[in-house]
Amino acid sequence: MHLRRFLRTLSALVLGLAVLSSVTPAQASAVRVLRYDASRAAEFRTVVDQAAQVWNASVTNVRLVAGTPADFVVLADDGWPRAQVRSLGKGTIWMGREAVGQGYYPLRIATHEMGHILGLPDRRTGRCTDLMSGSSAPVSCTNANPNSAERAEVNANFAGFSALTEIDRLYVDDAGLVPAP
Ligand SMILES: [Zn+2]
Repeated sequence: MHLRRFLRTLSALVLGLAVLSSVTPAQASAVRVLRYDASRAAEFRTVVDQAAQVWNASVTNVRLVAGTPADFVVLADDGWPRAQVRSLGKGTIWMGREAVGQGYYPLRIATHEMGHILGLPDRRTGRCTDLMSGSSAPVSCTNANPNSAERAEVNANFAGFSALTEIDRLYVDDAGLVPAP
């Protein structure tokens, strides 16, 4: 009788241990979530959400979600589009109307400025296939997707391999700047 109870207890214990061991330990989650606040982005609010979706579909180590407290804020004003990057993933974006007024594609502007927040610098290659070529690409360029190298760089940044040495940096995307030779 006692033995049977002991065996029952033992089997319950073994079962419990089996269940415990089958639960995988919390996976070292590499995905960093960044919250953004586009509530003051005026007419650009929708395009900012679309830009976040572009990035979410492009990279795996960081995820952008609307919400507060925000890691980065998106505003609208009449200047050139620009991004103040306080540190990787944190800062302020201005969706400047100057570039839209000149005919630049709003979604590309938004994904480009988010690229700065995600640790990418300007690379004025003049190529439309490069997101970070910004306004050095033709005004007619509507590519809003980061290329494979830009995706890999952002993934690496958020995997802890950031080459971002400059923090608290302001990137001004003035279309008057000439492409790099
Ligand atoms: Zn830029």
